[in-house]
Amino acid sequence: MRRLILFSLIQLLIVHLSGQNNDSFHPPVNIPIFLSGNFGEIRSDHFHSGIDIKTQGTVGHPVFSVEKGYVSRIKVQANGYGNSIYVTHPNGYTSVYGHLDGYRDDIAAYVKKVQYKRESFSVDLYLEPGVFQLDRGEFLAYSGNTGGSSGPHLHFEIRTASNQHPTNVLKYNFDIEDRRAPKFLSLFIYPLDQQGQVNGSRDKFSSSLVIDNGVYTIPWTTKLSASGKLGISVEVFDYLNGASNRCGVYSLEYYQDDQLVYRHLMDEFAFSETRYINAHIDYEERVRNGTKAHRLHRLPNDKLRIYDALENNGELLINEERNYKMRIVAKDVAGNQSELTFTVSGNLVQQSENQAPDPGVILRAKESNTFNRDPVTLFFPKNTLYRDMEFKFEKSPSSHGSLSNFYHIGSEETPVHLPYTLSIKTELSTPEFRDKLLIVNLNDDNEISSAGGEFSNGKVTTSLRSFGKYAIGIDTIAPEIKPQGGEINGDLTGRESIKFIITDELSDIDTYNGFIDNKWVLFEYDLKNDILFYLIDKERIELNTEHELELYVTDSKGNANLYQAKFTW
Ligand SMILES: [Zn+2]
Repeated sequence: MRRLILFSLIQLLIVHLSGQNNDSFHPPVNIPIFLSGNFGEIRSDHFHSGIDIKTQGTVGHPVFSVEKGYVSRIKVQANGYGNSIYVTHPNGYTSVYGHLDGYRDDIAAYVKKVQYKRESFSVDLYLEPGVFQLDRGEFLAYSGNTGGSSGPHLHFEIRTASNQHPTNVLKYNFDIEDRRAPKFLSLFIYPLDQQGQVNGSRDKFSSSLVIDNGVYTIPWTTKLSASGKLGISVEVFDYLNGASNRCGVYSLEYYQDDQLVYRHLMDEFAFSETRYINAHIDYEERVRNGTKAHRLHRLPNDKLRIYDALENNGELLINEERNYKMRIVAKDVAGNQSELTFTVSGNLVQQSENQAPDPGVILRAKESNTFNRDPVTLFFPKNTLYRDMEFKFEKSPSSHGSLSNFYHIGSEETPVHLPYTLSIKTELSTPEFRDKLLIVNLNDDNEISSAGGEFSNGKVTTSLRSFGKYAIGIDTIAPEIKPQGGEINGDLTGRESIKFIITDELSDIDTYNGFIDNKWVLFEYDLKNDILFYLIDKERIELNTEHELELYVTDSKGNANLYQAKFTW
């Protein structure tokens, strides 16, 4: 017994030291595993929830269940994970396989049957144990490029089955080589209070980084003197063997004068908290320059649970005339690490002689806020923002066919966590157009897009999750339906599919329903390419006979288009 305990302790120690998890899995593919993305890396509005396995530039590689278990969920959608499959295992995990080209025959037949029964391409099916029971390493599906994927790869996750939190896949036993250390790219320092300043300025300080004797630092010509309360961010990436892709780091540690003040660990997270990434990163840098910088200070309304050490929210208070030593350590799961060190020369905090300028309208992050400026009403529920913000509101004349002025709400460089409500009053609401009114957004590239919304009580109201320029617009134009590979009319003998490009000028495609000889048929929708296609199905379509095709497509404002054709096959 004692020997057993000792053995377990040693094992625990080994597991802990190597950062590896004890659960062992079969590989999900039978090709060498190289990654184009890893767990926890910074994506738009979310942390990446799995690993992206390169599939040699092609689709159709077999995908295997990593452990015995049962198919617990199958989801088909035009965006997101595209075709995906979830397997629940007796060891307490769920594995997820996304962007699949298709499922193995019996699973594909099962899915198709449900799609025909529900007359819907997108389905989200939860299955009981026993429908598809799987062995470890059993063939499941083919890798692909469906949904929001921008190149052939397998998106693969391991979640804790009980709460569906994605976990760090690199912590298990997959054969993924990583002998490369993270690389620091840039450093940002922000004054956080009235006394805060860097090199005599209240503006953000930024610097590229150099490597000196194996340690990253600021260039020797860059001076750094500061006072007051400061926050720090770093841009840092990890790289794995056999691929040039930038991946995310596993942990970041920040020491002020050898005292640990901040550490985050990318072990797992909840999907309900992943949007807090916009508080974790310097969102302004992301919007302006595409830079992905991790804050080493926590914003007041950042509720991520990845912070494993946090003193004074990671803020640096400089109130003495001395050198402050900063050290930041980035690690990957394999244990490779890099260090960034620099010194800040401290100044005594100067009590500012000038009164701070009048801050104008302040939106409080922890309170709800209402803002009225005729004809606009804005309502921000509490916790819409990550920190208090000076609110800017301006207008510019109507353009791009908008039916009102453009109202500039806040700044595109400020992140919004929860949806807020925008209402704009209008007198232009003749009854026949009421249903076609919506809110439009004008972006920095001068492009217009729908921001949704409905007319009611003399105003158009929508729910928004970003700041920017908004106006009332109208969509009376039906979606366009263009056949691909020649007209559909006539003899289609030998054709395998019927394909269309479907687009809508302003709002989104809402419904698409194809009928052959008055029976619903499965048109598959590839949103990123605007492609809608039907694979001609011998079991449902009689050969050498004339058929009638009808395809109805509507947009989210209820504008409908119908494509009709007669063909023989
Ligand atoms: Zn992915």
